[in-house]
Amino acid sequence: MPHTLLLAEPRGFCAGVVRAIDVLDRVLDREAAPIYAFHEIVHNRYVVDSFRQRGTIFVDTIDQVPDGARIVFSAHGVSPAVVEQARAKQLRVIDATCPLVTKVHLETRKAAKDGFDVLLVGHEGHDEVEGTKGEAPERTRVVDSVSDVERLDDTGRPVFVVTQTTLSVDDTAATIDAIRARHPQAQIRNDICYATTNRQAAVRAIAQRADLVIVVGSSNSSNSVRLREVAAGTGTPAYRVDGIEEIDPAWYEGVGVVGLTAGASVPDELLDPIIDDLRARGVTRVEPVVVATETIEFRMPDELELPVITP
Ligand code: SF4
Repeated sequence: MPHTLLLAEPRGFCAGVVRAIDVLDRVLDREAAPIYAFHEIVHNRYVVDSFRQRGTIFVDTIDQVPDGARIVFSAHGVSPAVVEQARAKQLRVIDATCPLVTKVHLETRKAAKDGFDVLLVGHEGHDEVEGTKGEAPERTRVVDSVSDVERLDDTGRPVFVVTQTTLSVDDTAATIDAIRARHPQAQIRNDICYATTNRQAAVRAIAQRADLVIVVGSSNSSNSVRLREVAAGTGTPAYRVDGIEEIDPAWYEGVGVVGLTAGASVPDELLDPIIDDLRARGVTRVEPVVVATETIEFRMPDELELPVITP
């Protein structure tokens, strides 16, 4: 049975998720429910359920929101069309988009304005990709793999490449190599964020030493799903779970060293019962495996820097 637990560092919340959760938290503290949120504030079932219990209504279209209501845009960002729909309904918007996602929006908008075709490396249908693509829908094509690149028509226009922030570092490098081979003049921005990069490096480090890796994170969390893939890519069995209730104790049979990490939208408290359970099963050594130290913080939106005024 397990005797050693390797804890990936960094793991769990990134600066963009901390900011988005703080935004919604402050709005709920200041204003009467319901507060609307466009898309899940972050892709984590536990976080979303706890906000739902406090009076947040999560919507996927603006027409689900009453005129004039308060709405928070999620960390993944929204397209200009959504901003326009919100304006038309006079919604009171607070934007919790991660600043690193906003940067990709600005790059996309400018590239299209400058006459480029934009190739957006990312997963079609993901909230972030939909928002970024919406900056220049007629000029942006989403590619997810080398084979997608091989199928692209050539428009004759110059090519500008941006990426989703939460992709696999290795898979994206292969896709970008394929783009570069077809379009040697392409201007390339690799927008995979610091948090994604660090968490993938950390999970690889623990997976190389562990007999089993557990990744905590929801199935719709791109970065959590990528963490499991990176771990499994080392040859070590790896599972993604939303929490301890999804762990099958049979996974621990014949396993000496367990690796544990969490996606960027996962509260660390979801790991505590897993660690306690492993100690109860015989783990006596808990070792943090540190590959990077993160100090990044994002400031709150201006509206929320103001002091609370109680009537
Ligand atoms: Fe921002 Fe990266 Fe966190 Fe996404 S994973 S919210 S891009 S810091």
